[in-house]
Amino acid sequence: MCSRTERDAEGLQCTLAEGPIVVGAGPSGLAVAACLANLGVPSTVLEKAHCVASLWQHRTYDRLKLHLPKQFCELPLMGFPAGFPKYPSKHQFVAYMEAYAARFGIRPIFGRAVEVAEFDAAGCCWRVVAQTGEVFLSRWLVVATGENAQPNTPELPGLERFGGRVIHTSSYKSGRDFRGENVLVVGCGNSGMEVSFDLCRHYARPHMVVRNSVHVLPREVLGVSTFGIAMALLKWLPLKAVDRILLAAAHIILGDTDRVGLRRPKTGPIELKNSTGKTPVLDVGALAHIRAGKIKVTQGVKEVTRTGARFLDGAEGDFDSIILATGYKSNVPSWLKGGDLFTKEGLPNKPFPNGWRGEDGLYSVGFTMRGLQGTSSDAINIAADISEQWRSGAVIAQGGGSTHRRPHCQRPLRPPLQGAPAAAV
Ligand SMILES: Cc1cc2nc3c(=O)[nH]c(=O)nc-3n(C[C@H](O)[C@H](O)[C@H](O)COP(=O)(O)OP(=O)(O)OC[C@H]3O[C@@H](n4cnc5c(N)ncnc54)[C@H](O)[C@@H]3O)c2cc1C
Repeated sequence: MCSRTERDAEGLQCTLAEGPIVVGAGPSGLAVAACLANLGVPSTVLEKAHCVASLWQHRTYDRLKLHLPKQFCELPLMGFPAGFPKYPSKHQFVAYMEAYAARFGIRPIFGRAVEVAEFDAAGCCWRVVAQTGEVFLSRWLVVATGENAQPNTPELPGLERFGGRVIHTSSYKSGRDFRGENVLVVGCGNSGMEVSFDLCRHYARPHMVVRNSVHVLPREVLGVSTFGIAMALLKWLPLKAVDRILLAAAHIILGDTDRVGLRRPKTGPIELKNSTGKTPVLDVGALAHIRAGKIKVTQGVKEVTRTGARFLDGAEGDFDSIILATGYKSNVPSWLKGGDLFTKEGLPNKPFPNGWRGEDGLYSVGFTMRGLQGTSSDAINIAADISEQWRSGAVIAQGGGSTHRRPHCQRPLRPPLQGAPAAAV
C-alpha cells in the first residue's frame, strides 16, 4: 500500500510507502506483511520476480517436498490445510503461500528488483531504488531476500574447458533431462543427495563428490520425525546428550556412513548446525542407493577436464554433465548500503534470536539458519516492534539492544520531492 507518488529532483518516480517497505515476497516477506496486517499496519512488499515464493516456484526440483514435517514449516497466524500430507510437496507449499498472501490481503509489487537501499539521515527515511528506476521511501525497511538469494558456485579448476552441460541445482528440475548420462554431482548436502537419488530414478549414473564430512540422519525414527524428536529432547536434555542420542539412532537405522565414504564431523549434528549453520542431511533414500552402488561417492575434484574430472585420489572419470549442488548465498551486500545489521556475507551480525533488528528502522527476517521456524520468530518480533512505533506515531531507532529516540527523526518524513509539499507518513 503506498500513499502518494511524486517525482524527485532527478526526475525519478518517488513513492511514499504508507508503512514499512518489505524487500522480498518469499515466505519471510509474506510472514512479516501478514503479522503487520494483523496488527493494523500496512506494508509495501517489493518483489523482483512476478510471483510469491519465487524460490519454490522457479528454483527447485520437481520432486521436492518439505524436508521437515509441516508443523515445523507453518507461518504465523495460518496453518497448512488439514488435508495436506506430513511432508507437503513444493506445489502444495506454493498453494499455501498464495492462500496465505490472499488471506492477509498482501499484494506485492512484482517485477521490482531492489538495486539500492540506503538510509537518508536528513530525510529520516529509507530510500529504496528498484531496477525500474522507481524510488520508494519509508521509515522502516525489512530485508526479506533470503539466505538462498543466489547460487553459490565454487571455483573448480578447469571448469571453463568442460565440454558438457554445467548447471546449479537451482536450475535442476528432474533426472529425466539426464537419462542415460554420467553425471558429476558436486556437493553432498540435502540437495546433492536428493538430486543424486532423482538421477538414479531416471536411469542416469550419478557420481557424488564428497569433499567434507557430513552428518546423515534418518528423516524419521519409528515413524516420528528426527527433527521433532530432537526438538522435544532439547527441552529436557543438554545439546551434547541430544546429539549423542541422534547419532546412536542414526547408527542403528543407517549403519556406519563412514564405510560408504560419508565421514561424520567430530561435532554433533545439532551443535554443528547451531555453530556453523551446516544442516544435517535427512536421508530420503539416497543412502540405500549409495550402498547399492547406484550412486558412486567420489573424492574432491582436483580439476575438471574437457570430458570429465580428475579427483584428489588420482582417479579420473568421463562425465556428460556436471551439477553444482553447492548451496546458495545472500545477495544483501549487493544492494543494502550502510547499516550495522549485516555482515559482509549478508547475514545478521548477531546470532539467533537477536539478529532481526538493526538501527534506523532496519530489520531482517529469515536469516536465522533455522528455516521457516526462524522466519516465524523474526516476523512476529518485527511486526510487534514496528506496530508499537506505528501506534505511538513516534519514530524510534533501535540499536545494540537499547531503545532511544532520534531527535531529528521526530519530524514528519520529508522526502526530496520537487515542486510539491512533502507528505507526512
Ligand atoms: C531446496 C530447498 C528446500 C528447502 N526446504 C525447507 C524445508 O523443508 N523447511 C524449511 O523450513 N526450510 C526449507 N528451505 C529453506 C527455505 O529456503 C526457506 O525456509 C524459505 O524459502 C526462506 O524464505 P525467505 O522468504 O526467507 O527466502 P526466499 O524464499 O529465498 O524468498 C526471498 C524472495 O526475495 C526476492 N528477492 C531477492 N532479492 C531481491 C531484490 N533485490 N529485490 C526484490 N526481491 C528480491 C526473491 O525473488 C524471493 O522471492 C529449503 C530451501 C531449499 C533451497
